Amino acid sequence: MIINKKRMKKDFDYITSISATETGCTRLSYSDEDRQVRDYIEAGLEEIGAEILIDSVGNIRAKYNPMGSKESSFLIGSHIDTVPYGGRYDGLTGVLASLEALRTIHENEISLRHPLELLIFAEEEGSNFGVTMIGSKYMAKKIGLEDLKELSNKDGVSAYDYIQSRGYNFKPEEDYYISAQNARGMIELHVEQGQILDEEAIDIGIIEAIAGMYTYQVIVEGSSNHAGTTPMIYRRDPLLGASEMIVRLNKLVEGYESAVITVGKIEVSPNASNVIASKVVFNIDIRDVVQEKMVRLAEEAKEVCNQIASDKKLDLDIKLLGSSEVAILDRELIDLIERVAKKTKLNYMRMNSGAVHDNAMLADIIPTAMIFLPSIGGISHSPYEDTDFDDIVTGSQLLLDSVIEYVG
Ligand SMILES: [Zn+2]
Repeated sequence: MIINKKRMKKDFDYITSISATETGCTRLSYSDEDRQVRDYIEAGLEEIGAEILIDSVGNIRAKYNPMGSKESSFLIGSHIDTVPYGGRYDGLTGVLASLEALRTIHENEISLRHPLELLIFAEEEGSNFGVTMIGSKYMAKKIGLEDLKELSNKDGVSAYDYIQSRGYNFKPEEDYYISAQNARGMIELHVEQGQILDEEAIDIGIIEAIAGMYTYQVIVEGSSNHAGTTPMIYRRDPLLGASEMIVRLNKLVEGYESAVITVGKIEVSPNASNVIASKVVFNIDIRDVVQEKMVRLAEEAKEVCNQIASDKKLDLDIKLLGSSEVAILDRELIDLIERVAKKTKLNYMRMNSGAVHDNAMLADIIPTAMIFLPSIGGISHSPYEDTDFDDIVTGSQLLLDSVIEYVG
């Protein structure tokens, strides 16, 4: 049973054409482009007789159950939103691969032991309200509608109000949440968004763990003064302290195998060339696939900042802005995908994901697994994001074959 490459290509070309911006694709959740793409995909799902449910925050759950089975569903899918001026493949690839798998199963009239559901998670990228994976967090009951009142978009409108203004009805009592009772597992296919597969010339990644993450905000305060009249020994320069912290944080991670640490955002006040800074605010992003090590690294990072601040007599405040735990994916599902990949002689490797995905939000509730496809040059969240279409076809076929192995 072979997926229809031509049909998939047509889906990709149509969807990227209606969300094309001067450069790349812009398809924020709850936008008009998002609506058009949803209409297109929903029409495709209705054609094969899938039952479509949409929840309060806009997650789509399309159930394909030709045998009328009473069993719990097996889930496939991903997200369709992009970052502003993003690429063609992040998220959409997993959704279209899943749609194509359902269409192929339908055409071939395959009987299924369990229903299959295609999930399309809303607001994965966090482009509207600065918080990622709102859809999957909602489905996993990791956030509720009350939390959406606390978040707001760039115009100051709360997520709670904005989502409703875009036509979604909040009926939490009718919403479905992912549970071990209603779902038996999930496979998400996604582009890697990193360079390992491309560098190693491997077509498929089978993911064992998804990195957890801590985001801290560090505020360093000193004494602002005249750059010409203040001798070096009398200074309390927070920018000098912050600089030392950033260098030491990057050194700290050398003792860890898989952890990464990034300072990618910094603000200096007053930010003038002839004034010693009064205040520096920067963020620390810490990730690892081993929970205990990530926790230890975060503690050490805070210690390093504290020590430098006290040596330099600077005031320091460290706030945790967000965190997600390491997700260990399901052994049995991983083995199943590997078996299928071996049988079809695919060039694959087992690997970890440094990026957090919707699947990580579900991994503590149901068994989950992920299939990665190479990102050319490792580029993502960029108009230059690219994946060879033949790799997409290979990955989509592996998704279909794995699903059949599970539910067929
Ligand atoms: Zn994505």
